[in-house]
Amino acid sequence: MSENIENRPGRIFEITAVSNPRIKSIKALAQKKNRDQGGVFLVEGMKLVRDAFENGWEIETLIYAATTNDSAQVTELAAKLRVAGADILEVNEKVLSSITRRDNPQMVVGVMRQNWQRAPEKIKNPSSVWIALDRVRDPGNLGTIIRTADSAGAEGIILIGETTDPFSLEATRASMGSIFNVPLVRMGVPEFLKWRISWEGMVVGTHLEGATDFRTIDYQSESVLLLMGNEQQGLPDDLAATCDKLALIPMHGAADSLNLAIATGVMLFHMGKKLPPIES
Ligand code: SAM
Repeated sequence: MSENIENRPGRIFEITAVSNPRIKSIKALAQKKNRDQGGVFLVEGMKLVRDAFENGWEIETLIYAATTNDSAQVTELAAKLRVAGADILEVNEKVLSSITRRDNPQMVVGVMRQNWQRAPEKIKNPSSVWIALDRVRDPGNLGTIIRTADSAGAEGIILIGETTDPFSLEATRASMGSIFNVPLVRMGVPEFLKWRISWEGMVVGTHLEGATDFRTIDYQSESVLLLMGNEQQGLPDDLAATCDKLALIPMHGAADSLNLAIATGVMLFHMGKKLPPIES
C-alpha cells in the first residue's frame, strides 16, 4: 500500500496487490456473516454508487481502477465522496476483478453502510402500500421486488423470518439502484404478528388457495399491506390467518404458480396506488 497521501476527511491509497489486507477484508464481504458483522456491503458500478450517495447512504470506501474510460466522472465522484469522509482506493483491474469475482468488472465499487429502518407506525393514508415478504430465498427475486416496489411507489418492504440478504451483490445488482430508495425492515414471525395488530389498513395475502380473485378487491379505500409467500412453500398458516383477504391471481396453462417477483408486480400495478394519472 502506498503512503497515505492526505489525511482528512477521507484518505487516498494506491493498492496494486490482491493480497493487500484491506482488499482481503473487502473481498470477505462476499459472505453474509462478514457483511452482518461490519454492517456494510458492496455496491458495483458508477451509477449505483452515485445513486447511493445522492440518496444519503453512507459510503465508507470507494475503490476504483485508475485506467477507467470514465476517469473524469470517477475522479469527480471520488472527490465528493472523499469530502464526505470516504477513503479512496486506487487499484488496478486485477484487484477489482478479485473483489467483484468478474472478468470484466465494473470500474467502481463502493463499500457502504447497511441501512435498516424501523417498522412503520399507524399508516392511514389510503394511497400507501407496504410489502411484506415471507422468508424470500432468491436474491434475484428480492432485488427485482425492490426495483418493482420502487417503480410502483410502495413505501417499503418488510422482510419476515430468515431471508436472503438484500445487501448481497446479486440482490443489489437486481435492484438496479432501487435498494437506495426503498426502506427495508426486518422482523421475525412473532414480532411481525404482534406488529400487524397495529396496522390500520387492510392486509392482503396472496395465496394459491386464495378465496378471492385479486381483481375483485377494493384496494383504494385503505392503506394496504401486501403479504407474499415463500417461493417453495407459499404462506404458512399463521401468516395466512392474519390476512384480511387471501387473493388469488387466476392463471392459464400448466404452471402451478407465478414467480414471486412477477406476482408482486402484478398485485402492485393492479392496485396502481401511486401511479401517475392516465394522460388524455
Ligand atoms: N409452491 C408454492 C405454494 O404452494 O404457494 C408456490 C409459491 S409462489 C412461487 C410464491 C408466492 O407468490 C406465493 O406464495 C404467493 O404469495 C405468490 N403467488 C404466485 N402465484 C400466485 C397466484 N397465481 N395467485 C396468488 N399468489 C401467487
